[in-house]
Amino acid sequence: MKRKINLLIIASILGLIALSIIQGYLVNNTYELKKKAFIRETTRSISKIDDFSSALDSLSDIWQEQFVNKLIDYKFNLVKKEDVIQGLELVIDSVNEAYISEYQKALVESNVPYGIRFHKKVRAIIITDSVKNDTLFHSKKGAKQIILGDNFSEDNSIGISTTNWQTDHDSNRVINGEAKEISFSLTFQSADEIDIAGWKKIVLKQMLGLLLLSLFIFATVIGLLYYSIKSLIKQKKIADIKTDFVNNITHELKTPLATLTLATKMLNNDNVKQQPLLVRNTINTIERQNKRLQKLIDQVLNNSLGYKEIQLNKETVDVKKYLDTVLDDFMLSITTKNLTLNRNFSILTNQLKLDKFFVTTALLNVLENAVKYSGDEIIINFNVESNTELKISITDNGIGISEKDKKQVFEKFFRVGNKEIHDVKGLGLGLYYTNQIIKAHNGNIRVLGKEGNGTTFILTLPFN
Ligand code: ADP
Repeated sequence: MKRKINLLIIASILGLIALSIIQGYLVNNTYELKKKAFIRETTRSISKIDDFSSALDSLSDIWQEQFVNKLIDYKFNLVKKEDVIQGLELVIDSVNEAYISEYQKALVESNVPYGIRFHKKVRAIIITDSVKNDTLFHSKKGAKQIILGDNFSEDNSIGISTTNWQTDHDSNRVINGEAKEISFSLTFQSADEIDIAGWKKIVLKQMLGLLLLSLFIFATVIGLLYYSIKSLIKQKKIADIKTDFVNNITHELKTPLATLTLATKMLNNDNVKQQPLLVRNTINTIERQNKRLQKLIDQVLNNSLGYKEIQLNKETVDVKKYLDTVLDDFMLSITTKNLTLNRNFSILTNQLKLDKFFVTTALLNVLENAVKYSGDEIIINFNVESNTELKISITDNGIGISEKDKKQVFEKFFRVGNKEIHDVKGLGLGLYYTNQIIKAHNGNIRVLGKEGNGTTFILTLPFN
């Protein structure tokens, strides 16, 4: 059963891990889809800006015209390749501020609700004539870029489109008295990129409902699983306790029943019938075993009572006198072991209202346990303090109780499960009942001590 529960716990944990992975995958997919949809939507709303802003158009015309002039100079061998690129950078620099501000104006007019930065990044500039392709510029990752518009890091940039500006050019010039003619076509590739301020937050906000719902479902599944496993363990514990109890009571009933069977057989024997002394002794044995059986049944019936079911019949007692009588009777009942009982009274308040019958049962349960769970040389220290409340501490030099078991000793049917204790008879009801009796008196009971080093029970009763 324990193995089954462990397997179930492992399977549930694995299932939960698989569920988290699938959930994570689905959430991530949704995030990617939302991100794409958001970018598509934003791109659509800004795509018109470039086309419909005449200011942006004329700024583009300015730098393009100057750039083409520089290119023609290059083709006539009047400037070098580097000069063309430097010239392009210079003209872009000169219009850039105006370009950015016009772009922002156009954004405001288009009612785009997010802060957007935009730039065109030059990818490649290639001129082709009848002889060859001449690459003037090719953008490389990490190298210097030619950018028109806002400057923002590559990590944040979202590519929205690529543009291919393709034109043919013919030009004539007289250079050093010689008429020259050139003809080439220009391929100018650029990428339009944007940076949307806080776009991750915007997308996540759109997913907030889904995220919260999946978190809620996840927490519910974990909660239900935890609850189910906990109840399963509890059920298993109850089943174990019941089995233990049935075993214990069967064990307890066996001896008196066997003795009774033997005794009745003896009384039926004609030889025995003629010996009055033997008959008397056998009847005494039957009486003793009968009493033992009665005590066992009473124990099961009464000791199972909860503190609310206990009907108290309180009377005022002289604490010292009452406790001395209980201890004297207890000492008389112990004949099998060597017992030393040290009494220590420190009494300021001596009158206490309690139910003598029940409190005596509670004290005897603790005292009898001190004898049951100790060696042959028993020392019990019985300390009493009474001031604002009555505090009785009973310490023995027995086998002690482990930290773990201490938490359970007051539970119904609980018995410490080690071998040493299995030889000692009991039903696991004594301390449960003691606790209920003390509770019915509005007091409390605690257990102290270490395993192998004796045990102390502290009972406290209020003077009310
Ligand atoms: P039981 O009928 O088994 O004695 P109790 O309810 O009186 O039932 O005690 C519960 C368990 O607590 C016992 O089985 C025993 O293992 C442990 N226990 C109780 N008193 C002592 C003690 N003085 N020293 C060591 N163990 C004790």
